[in-house]
Amino acid sequence: MVTGAAMIIQPRIRGFVCVTAHPEGCAANVREQIAVVREGGPVANAPKNVLILGSSTGYGLSTRIAAAFGAGARTIGVAFERPGGEDKPASAGWYNTAAFHREARKAGLDAWSLNGDAFSTQMKADVIALAKEKLGAKFDLVVYSLASPRRTDPQGNTWRSCLKPIGQAFEALHLDTDKHEVVNIRVEPASEEEILGSQKVMGGEDLDLWVQALEEADLLAEGAQVVAYDYIGPKCTHPIYHDGTIGNAKKHLYATAKKIDARLKASLGASAFLSVNKAVVTQASSAIPAVPLYISILFKVMKEMGLHEGCIEQMDRLFRTKLRGPGLPEFDHEGRIRMDDWEMREDVQARTAALWQGISTESLRSASDYSGYELEFLKLFGFGVEGVDYAADVEPDIPYEG
Ligand code: NAD
Repeated sequence: MVTGAAMIIQPRIRGFVCVTAHPEGCAANVREQIAVVREGGPVANAPKNVLILGSSTGYGLSTRIAAAFGAGARTIGVAFERPGGEDKPASAGWYNTAAFHREARKAGLDAWSLNGDAFSTQMKADVIALAKEKLGAKFDLVVYSLASPRRTDPQGNTWRSCLKPIGQAFEALHLDTDKHEVVNIRVEPASEEEILGSQKVMGGEDLDLWVQALEEADLLAEGAQVVAYDYIGPKCTHPIYHDGTIGNAKKHLYATAKKIDARLKASLGASAFLSVNKAVVTQASSAIPAVPLYISILFKVMKEMGLHEGCIEQMDRLFRTKLRGPGLPEFDHEGRIRMDDWEMREDVQARTAALWQGISTESLRSASDYSGYELEFLKLFGFGVEGVDYAADVEPDIPYEG
């Protein structure tokens, strides 16, 4: 079903976001991801009923695609996306979800999506009602892949997260993607309030509320897994990421997952843990100071070494080799899955660090894969995709139908 008027949609980039998205480009991206998963054949030891929180873009979307098209799982996805209007494109995550449902239906896969605030008590109730009514089964996998700048907690307090260092200013090279220049940036340290705000948004509080709600509703299966995504990254980004406000929030997420894990082990033989994923181009990562430059260099190195992965390759490998099956999950000494194992390889990091040292605006295109980064960034919004006619009118107002 289509409604409204057709229009030509072009990219409109504002800093690190693109405010438009292309429905056909997004659909092509989703189909491309499905093809990657299908190429590997069916996933063994697969989860059958999966809840994905943050299912419309980035890692959450790829998780959903790997679960559905690789494992044949029935999925419920939750995301917060903007629908299109008569003369206004929807957000990329909206189009991705619409495309996911079209493909899932063709493949005979059950899938349901809810669009709204996953941090709210109402959304938890809505998912529970949907699972009881439509899914009719307990979840054997719950994936927490939210990335958000703000959260309103159940008490009505609104918290904001920020990307700042803690204790001292961060001075580093950064990529100005508007001007295509390597510049020096300085980010002042976060205040106590900003540190707490980031923890409230990106820490474990909401994950715990989700798991509690699912436990109370008796919707977690025996032996279920709850997985939340984490990032650690290289030394050059530690002050802004791992040791900064976001890293602090991730430490809270880790501690919360440990607490949930103990509770679930005792009651259901279930578990909760983090998967540390590699750096990829997503809407969330493009907002982090210094990270786009690091990713551009990393992509060059990993492509040259035949180790390159995007979201879908990561999530496909997670399902096939790290999550379930004999001897799995495969954990590090702190009980986390390490999907960043290739990124953090010594040889990869040494080559990346060497390129990082000498990079400048002049050497940007040769010393990094900035061109690949730009392409990936545009693709997030459905632009620059081969085979899509961007001069043609398209219908911007597409319903989910899921
Ligand atoms: P993303 O921006 O692509 O996706 C975020 C998702 O969260 C979207 O589906 C969005 O709709 C949803 N969302 C945001 N606010 C919401 C709300 N209030 N209610 C419901 N849904 C909401 O982000 P991403 O990069 O895929 O990040 C997902 C997770 O992966 C994060 O925990 C991130 O830290 C982690 N991670 C990312 C990277 C990376 O390089 N991008 C690397 C490792 C780990």
